[in-house]
Amino acid sequence: MPFLDTLIAAALPLTPRFVVGKVAGRYIAGETLDDAVRTMRDLSGKGAVCTVDVLGEFVTDISAAERTAAAYAALIEAIAAESLRSGVSVKLTAFGLSIDEARCTELVRGVAERARQHGIFVRIDMEDSPVTDATLAVVRTLHAAGLPVGAVLQAYLRRTVDDAAALAALGIPVRLCKGIYKEPPEIAYQGREEIRDNYRRALRVLLDGGGSVAIATHDETLVAAAREMTNELKTPRTRYEYQMLLGVRDWLRDELIKSGERVRVYVPFGSDWYGYSTRRLKENPEIAGHVFRAMLGFK
Ligand SMILES: Cc1cc2nc3c(=O)[nH]c(=O)nc-3n(C[C@H](O)[C@H](O)[C@H](O)COP(=O)(O)OP(=O)(O)OC[C@H]3O[C@@H](n4cnc5c(N)ncnc54)[C@H](O)[C@@H]3O)c2cc1C
Repeated sequence: MPFLDTLIAAALPLTPRFVVGKVAGRYIAGETLDDAVRTMRDLSGKGAVCTVDVLGEFVTDISAAERTAAAYAALIEAIAAESLRSGVSVKLTAFGLSIDEARCTELVRGVAERARQHGIFVRIDMEDSPVTDATLAVVRTLHAAGLPVGAVLQAYLRRTVDDAAALAALGIPVRLCKGIYKEPPEIAYQGREEIRDNYRRALRVLLDGGGSVAIATHDETLVAAAREMTNELKTPRTRYEYQMLLGVRDWLRDELIKSGERVRVYVPFGSDWYGYSTRRLKENPEIAGHVFRAMLGFK
């Protein structure tokens, strides 16, 4: 990322919220459930399937966690009522993982039971390393109870190939991504190439294993490596899919769909959009231009 982009990314916390909102609009379906439904329909028309995230994380009291669970219940009912091809993605800290692990598990269990009634899949997103073990423990518990849940592994973590082997042995579905949080070098690879190498290693372990695999990346090098691997291993298309974020590299999504691959788009919506948006903007190499244009009132 050029120097100016890095500078602006670092200054994001000082950027007015309305500017962040304007620039980040492309990454978010909107603030309401109706916005999410509209986006799911639109993506369905483009041949994609979805997983929807109600924005929010790190709640500090259990009543907020209960509100998260209620929002997911409404989302699942809407997906079912409209016959949309979509799962849901949840963040456990939004269900109170850091304040009451047992209650968090029960709230997510309720969501997963409702999802199961409608044949809807629940992906449990992975957050930063202080909650990695607790998050995987919740996934294991709910999967063992026969609920339709899956985990996420982050290729930047040094432990990920081991985690991939353990989850694959249990047949737990895994989404593999690079990882978005800032983690220290003792536990996480920092270099682009070493993260890619670990991604390839973990992907092979997952494809060799028993669970379904979601290849979540916009990195063309990794997409090409994944396509080679699935061809070589003759992995049936029902066992894996590609996943991308709303608003990122639509051309790559369309290319994969055209070539017959299943692509799931991660669709976030809700009023609590700030944390998600700033993470996305920090990854965007063209951030400087977008922020400046928004500040000047251009689209
Ligand atoms: C479906 C999905 C679910 C995810 N779930 C999690 C999760 O649970 N936990 C977690 O830690 N991380 C999650 N991530 C984020 C992931 O870890 C990465 O931070 C993110 O996907 C960028 O990595 P990349 O593999 O696309 O590679 P990169 O090398 O970062 O990106 C490749 C190229 O894609 C483009 N690009 C990437 N991001 C953006 C952007 N925001 N705006 C514009 N262009 C962009 C750029 O051109 C870039 O050069 C998820 C990602 C996806 C796609």
